[in-house]
Amino acid sequence: MAYKITDECISCGACEAECPNEAISEGETIYVIDPDKCTECVGGFDSPRCAEVCPVEAPQADPKHAESKEQLLEKWRKLHPGKEPAEGSY
Ligand code: SF4
Ligand code: SF4
Repeated sequence: MAYKITDECISCGACEAECPNEAISEGETIYVIDPDKCTECVGGFDSPRCAEVCPVEAPQADPKHAESKEQLLEKWRKLHPGKEPAEGSY
């Protein structure tokens, strides 16, 4: 399930550099997550990094983008051709 950033975001920018898939960018008013790149950190970390570093809990799982772990890993593989996912991240 891809994450999305809610209106709680205070645009501190802390999450952007933490994303292993470069899925986060500065939007018009708040930071935004590209659901086509968000793997819930599957392939990179054992838990969603953006949610961990955010001071206001703005990143939340988005039920509109329900995906299985297998689908998330497949998405990660397409984003990182030739690389192996981090151990414990899937
Ligand atoms: S959950 Fe992970 S992959 Fe998804 S946007 Fe946050 S840091 Fe990036
Ligand atoms: S870390 Fe939280 S408050 Fe800061 S830009 Fe990311 S979502 Fe917004």
